[in-house]
Amino acid sequence: MAGVTLKDALGRCFRDLRVSVTDRCNFRCTYCMPEEIFGHDYTFLTHRDLLSFAELDRLVRLFYQAGCRKVRLTGGEPLLRPDLADLITSFRTLPDLEITMTTNGSLLEQYAESLKQAGLDRVTVSLDALDEAVFAALSGGYSSAGRVLDGIRAAEEAGLLPIKINMVVKRGVNENQILPMAAAFRKPGYILRFIEYMDVGSTNQWKADEVVPAAEILKHLEKLYSLVPIDPNYHGEVARRYRYLEGEAEIGIIASVTQPFCKDCTRARISADGKLFTCLFAEQGVDLREKLRSGAPDAEINGLFQQVWEQRADRYSETRSEISTAQGRIEMSYIGG
Ligand code: SAM
Ligand code: SF4
Ligand code: SF4
Repeated sequence: MAGVTLKDALGRCFRDLRVSVTDRCNFRCTYCMPEEIFGHDYTFLTHRDLLSFAELDRLVRLFYQAGCRKVRLTGGEPLLRPDLADLITSFRTLPDLEITMTTNGSLLEQYAESLKQAGLDRVTVSLDALDEAVFAALSGGYSSAGRVLDGIRAAEEAGLLPIKINMVVKRGVNENQILPMAAAFRKPGYILRFIEYMDVGSTNQWKADEVVPAAEILKHLEKLYSLVPIDPNYHGEVARRYRYLEGEAEIGIIASVTQPFCKDCTRARISADGKLFTCLFAEQGVDLREKLRSGAPDAEINGLFQQVWEQRADRYSETRSEISTAQGRIEMSYIGG
C-alpha cells in the first residue's frame, strides 16, 4: 500500500490522523467536558481499555503506509499520559511525518523540552481567556491562565515554533477576551486561532445563539486592527488566515459552523480505545483495537481502513441544522479534538 493516495466517496484524500491518547482531562471546559456530567462518578476508560504505545505505534505505521503525513496527538489531555515523549520518539523514525500535539498547556512547562527532544514538531495550546475569572468560567476552575502562559513560554524556549493558540469563543462568556488575546499573541512565532463553538458531543447543551460567527469575530478585531485575508498554507487547512496590515503576525478563524470545510476534510481519528472515526460528529466507530489484540495481520487492518476511507461520505458541518440533535454523538474528549 506504500505510496497510495486513498480517496473517499467525495474525492477527499487521506492525509491527517488525530490520535486521542486518553479520554481523561484535568480541566472541565464547559463546551467539552462539563463538570455536571464528567464528575467524580463518571466512568472513564481503564488503563487496559487504552491503546498501548506499542499498539499506537503499529497503527500509526499502518496509517503512514496508507498516506498519512501528519499525526496530531490529542485527547482528553494528552500530557496526562505519562512518557508521551517515548511515543513521539518512535513516530519520529517515519520520514516526512509531521508530529503535532494539542494540549491545554497546564503541564507544558514541565514537558516542553523533552517533547521537543523526542521530535515533536509543533504544539497547539488551547487558551480561551487571559482574564483569570473568564478562564475559570470556561475551564471549570482548574489550573490558571498564568500557568498556561508559562507552558506557552516553555514551548517557545524549547523551539516548538510556530505555536498555535486555540481560543473557542462562546457568546456571553469570552467575547471580551478577543482583543486582549489578539494583542497578547500578535507577535512572530504565534498564530492565534479563533474557533466557533461547535455542537460536538452530546453533553455541552450547545445552542446556535451561543456561537459567535466568524464574521462577528472579525468585526471585533477590526475595531483595533486592519486585517488582510491570505491564502491557505496547504490544501485542507481548516483555518481561514488573515495577516495584520502592520507587522508580520497572522491570525486564523476556524468557522466550522458558519463556513464549514467538509469538502477538504482529509482527517481520520482514532479514539483513546482504538476506534476509527472519520467525522468528528460520528456516532459509531470501527474497532481497530480488537483487530490489534486478536493478532490480525497488517494487510487486514490496512484493508479495513482502506474500505472505511473509500466509503466515507460524511460531511456533518455542511448539513447541520439550527437545531442540533446531539443524542448518541461521540464526545470530543474521547474521539480527540
Ligand atoms: N485537552 C486538549 C486541549 O484542550 O487543547 C486537547 C483536546 S481538546 C478536545 C482539542 C481542542 O478542541 C481544543 O482546542 C478545544 O478548545 C477544542 N474544543 C473542544 N470542545 C469544543 C467545542 N465544543 N467547540 C469548539 N472547539 C472545541
Ligand atoms: Fe479538557 Fe481540552 Fe476538553 Fe478542555 S477542551 S475539557 S482541556 S479535553
Ligand atoms: Fe470533517 Fe466531519 Fe468536520 Fe466535516 S464535520 S470537517 S466531515 S470532521
